Amino acid sequence: MVKRNLVLSLAYLVSVWCTLSLGQLQDQSGEMDMANEFLERNEVFAENVAEHVQLANVIESTQDPKVALIGCIDSRVIPEYTIRATFGEVVTYRNVGNIVRKDQLDVKAFIQFALSQPNLKTIIVAGHTDCGGMKGIMRDSNGALGKYLEPVKDLYTSRKEYLDDIPKKDALRMLSVLNVRRSVNNLRVSPEVMAHEGNVKIHGWVFDLTTRKYTDVTKPSSFSRRPRL
Ligand SMILES: [Zn+2]
Repeated sequence: MVKRNLVLSLAYLVSVWCTLSLGQLQDQSGEMDMANEFLERNEVFAENVAEHVQLANVIESTQDPKVALIGCIDSRVIPEYTIRATFGEVVTYRNVGNIVRKDQLDVKAFIQFALSQPNLKTIIVAGHTDCGGMKGIMRDSNGALGKYLEPVKDLYTSRKEYLDDIPKKDALRMLSVLNVRRSVNNLRVSPEVMAHEGNVKIHGWVFDLTTRKYTDVTKPSSFSRRPRL
């Protein structure tokens, strides 16, 4: 019996060693897979959070966010990071190009959930300059991305002559502004927002990758070169 347990223990140790060794080999060869590195960073993060009692309390309690933010998936623009939000303050939804269509079920579900939070009365749509989503509507995109962007392509096609005549950087910025404004307008008339009878404030911002600042583009004077709507 003792001998059998010893054999089983040895077999277990060998299997653990093989798994770890294989994992290390995969790490060394799989340069593109950073998942393990992020898990290690998460270990550091988890340990640090325990040092901040206030933060730990927020995480452990029921969430009570005050703001809902719809942003783009661009890896250079992390919404919570750019506005220095901390745990529990903001519920965030990100998609390609921070697009809000009137019939977009995923966004509608997000807004319904966000506005069910007792103290959440503010929604921000946050676009950004040099947006890949806006580049996508300026050219022919195929596959799922093409289908996804098709309903907002008119932002470009209806102003093609003008947008093709200005520097690409300015055209992209203008499309970001127009897209945010349309998204805000679509949110304002959505049943999910209208159910709250004017108690929800909706803002439209564009993040400038160069200055790292947001501009409120729902104010008429917010952009020096105001796009034609
Ligand atoms: Zn983007």
